[in-house]
Amino acid sequence: MFNSLELTGRSSTHVREVPELGCILHGEAMLQALAMRSAARAAGIELAIVSSFRDFDRQVAIWNAKYSGERQLLDRDGRALIHAHLSESALIDAILIWSALPGASRHHWGTDVDVIDRAAIARDYQPQLVPAEFAGSGPFARLDVWLAANMPRFGFFRPYTSPRHGVQPEPWHVSFAPLAGLALEALTLEVLGTALHDSRMLGSEAVRKRLPEIYSRYVTDIDPPPR
Ligand SMILES: [Zn+2]
Repeated sequence: MFNSLELTGRSSTHVREVPELGCILHGEAMLQALAMRSAARAAGIELAIVSSFRDFDRQVAIWNAKYSGERQLLDRDGRALIHAHLSESALIDAILIWSALPGASRHHWGTDVDVIDRAAIARDYQPQLVPAEFAGSGPFARLDVWLAANMPRFGFFRPYTSPRHGVQPEPWHVSFAPLAGLALEALTLEVLGTALHDSRMLGSEAVRKRLPEIYSRYVTDIDPPPR
């Protein structure tokens, strides 16, 4: 279904542009995403995809900006961390709770998207993609409830919902289970290690030393799709 270059975002032969959604997706995920958007529209929700397929180089750019301290690092409570005070290992964990390891982002697969409700916000509102927007009186609280009740019909689930030791809850991140399940199974430690081997990623040596632990904590430890 996916080869190792596709699994790790180093090829885009498995995805295509979807002009109707303004994003890039795997063909099968696309059909269900379009159907889900129509159903949401009938409920007064304007389901918009703000992030879809992302390649390896883009994920390396995000990683490197955080690793070098160019981009702000946050702790689990969203408080700013001081880059210079972190050990190399603490720095790696600080990145991984909010950003995926290059090669291990579910966005590489074309099966996972970040969604918002455009009908719930003013034109000039900049979505932050923080849990508070999806709860209580947040603008996307209604979307949150709608997704929970309706996305399983279209094969979607949320892999990051409960608090855990790895990735922080991301109620905006939805995943097309039938394909993403196959991708996660195929993304072995070996496939991931190979992808990291000759990348321009900062700290790749330290990451490779910890790879088995990082893999189980930040890659495979997800909330499973309903059966
Ligand atoms: Zn996401």
